[in-house]
Amino acid sequence: MRFASTHSAAAVADAAASELETILGLSENAFVLYDHAGAIRLASDRLRNLLDLSDAEWHNLRTFSSLARILSARLAHPRQRLAPPWSLWEAGRGIGCERVELAVPERTLERIARPLHNASGAAAGWVERYRDAGAELELPAKLLQTDKLAAMGQLVAGIAHELSNPLTAVLGYAHLLLDRPLDPKALADAHRICEETERASRIVRSLLMLAREAKLERIPVQLNEVIERTLWLCNWDLQRAGIRMELNLDPALPLTLANPVQLQQIVLNLLVNAQQAIAETSSSGQITLRTRHGADQVFLQVQDSGPGVPAELQSRIFEPFFTTKPMGVGTGLGLSIIAGILRQHGGDIQVSSVPGSGATFTITLPIAQASGESSPSREESPRIASAVTNGD
Ligand code: ADP
Repeated sequence: MRFASTHSAAAVADAAASELETILGLSENAFVLYDHAGAIRLASDRLRNLLDLSDAEWHNLRTFSSLARILSARLAHPRQRLAPPWSLWEAGRGIGCERVELAVPERTLERIARPLHNASGAAAGWVERYRDAGAELELPAKLLQTDKLAAMGQLVAGIAHELSNPLTAVLGYAHLLLDRPLDPKALADAHRICEETERASRIVRSLLMLAREAKLERIPVQLNEVIERTLWLCNWDLQRAGIRMELNLDPALPLTLANPVQLQQIVLNLLVNAQQAIAETSSSGQITLRTRHGADQVFLQVQDSGPGVPAELQSRIFEPFFTTKPMGVGTGLGLSIIAGILRQHGGDIQVSSVPGSGATFTITLPIAQASGESSPSREESPRIASAVTNGD
C-alpha cells in the first residue's frame, strides 16, 4: 500500500484512518490491531457483528485479554484456550492460524495472527483477522442449490408447457366420447378419463405457476379430505402393489390455508414414494397416514414399512435432482417440489427413519386463522375406497 500526499502529516493520518475504516467496512473479515502489550488500537466493526457483541462489550473492548474473555464464554468447547496473537504466531511456526468454534452465536471462526511492522520494518504490534469459516463452507452448497433450483424451474416449466397441449386434446376427445351413446360401464370410464385429465391439467398449470413462482390461490382446506380424495384416486394402484393402508386421522383437525391441488400433489407424491420404497425390498407392506394438530399447526405423517432412508442421505433427498432410483423411474424432483410448496405455505417437511424399519415423512402446515372460515362440506369428498382401513 502506498500513500501519496502533499498535505500535512496530521491530515494524511486522518484521511488514512477514515479510508482504512471504509476499506475494512467492505470486508467480510474482521480485523483487530494490537500494540506490543496486547492493547487494541483498532477493531473493525465487522468484529462486533461476527461475535454478536453487546454495546457494553464493544465499548469495553480494550485489550486482547478482554476479547479472549468474551470469546471464552462463548466457546463450543469450553476447554479450548485462546492464545494471544504472539503465541499463536509462534506456535504456528509462521502460519498462526486456528479454528474457534462458538456456541453463541453458533459459528466457526478462523483466526489468523500476524506481526505488524512499521515503515522502517521494526515490530509495531500484531494484527488478527477473524473470518466466518462456516459461511464460506455453506456458500458453494447454497449456490449449487440455487443453480439447481433455477434449472429445475426451467425444466418443470418446459415439461409442463409440452404436456398442456396433448392434455387439452385428450380432454377434448374424452368430452366427445361422453356425447356418444355408451353403455354404463364405458360411460363411467369416459367420465373417469375426463376427471383424471382435468386433474392432470390442473397439476400441469400448478407446475407452470410454481416454476414462475406465482402465488396460487389459497383457501381454507381440510387436510383429512385431501388425503381421502387422494387415496380414492390411487387406491387401486396401492392395492395391486400389495399395500395395506392404515388411516389414523385427527377428527378435530383444524383447516389449513392452502392450495388444494398442491396439497393433493404433496400427498400423492409421498404415497408414490412410499409405495416405490416398499416395492424395493418386498412384495407387500403397509403405509400409515396420520394427521394431528397443535396450537398453530396441522401435521401429516406418512409412514411406510420400506427400507428407510440411510442417515447420510436424509439431508440430501430434498435436493432437486437427487434420486437413488434408476433412470426412467426417479427424477429426484418430488421431494424438492414438495419442500418448495410447503415453504410457500409457511410449512415444512422432515424425514425420520431407522434404516431397515421404514421412513416417516412429517409435513407441517399452519392452521388457518379462525375468521369465519368453515370446513368445506364433507359431501364433496369421495368415499374412501375399500382397501383403506381406519386406524384407532
Ligand atoms: P424420486 O422419487 O424421483 O427419486 P424424490 O425427490 O421424490 O425423487 O425422492 C428423492 C429420493 O428420496 C429417492 O430417490 C429416495 O432415495 C428417497 N426417498 C423418498 N421417499 C422415500 C421413502 N419413503 N423411503 C425411502 N427413501 C425415500
